[in-house]
Amino acid sequence: MYLKKVEIYGFKSFGQKVEIIFDNKVTGIVGPNGSGKSNIVDAIRWVLGEQRVKTLRGGKMEDVIFSGTEEKRALGYAFVSITIDNTTGILPSEYSEVNVSRRLYRSGESEYYINKNAVRLKDVHELFMDTGLSREGYSIISQGKIESIVNNSAVDRKLMIEEAVGIVKYKTRKNEALRK
Ligand code: ATP
Ligand code: MG
Repeated sequence: MYLKKVEIYGFKSFGQKVEIIFDNKVTGIVGPNGSGKSNIVDAIRWVLGEQRVKTLRGGKMEDVIFSGTEEKRALGYAFVSITIDNTTGILPSEYSEVNVSRRLYRSGESEYYINKNAVRLKDVHELFMDTGLSREGYSIISQGKIESIVNNSAVDRKLMIEEAVGIVKYKTRKNEALRK
């Protein structure tokens, strides 16, 4: 499983549509300060279902929508789409290529899609649960993350190990069943 493509339009500094193609090797992204390198990582977190604005380095969710520059006026929505190679079948999907996208309008209305089908945020979370790509996953290691793992409480560290071994799905289902 690897990330093949990211498409961004109207998310943070991306006032124009960009398409970034990755292969299954190592890719480095370089650029001057403030040129949008971290915004690409934010876009990936966001499309994976991130709801915590602080993690996205913003004050409110609307801040992720392109707010305009001197040359280009603000846009009405943010859109991010990622394509993941799933030939190894790690994602619970019948497709060998899985596409997930998210769109957010200034009204607060938001949409999620998996392979062009409209889905709920819950479906996106379930798709990535136990794959290492979920919200509590470890596939995005940000600045300071290693330090925080080392300093984490035993409970938080246990959550990360549970995600790695793939039992979060069962724990979530058990908790849902107990709540009913
Ligand atoms: P550094 O090397 O300093 O880490 P970087 O390449 O990671 O820089 P980012 O943090 O990705 O840079 O980009 C910051 C830029 O994104 C800032 O110029 C900021 O104004 C711009 N930006 C953030 N949100 C928006 C938005 N909603 N609309 C327009 N521009 C935005
Ligand atoms: Mg940065």
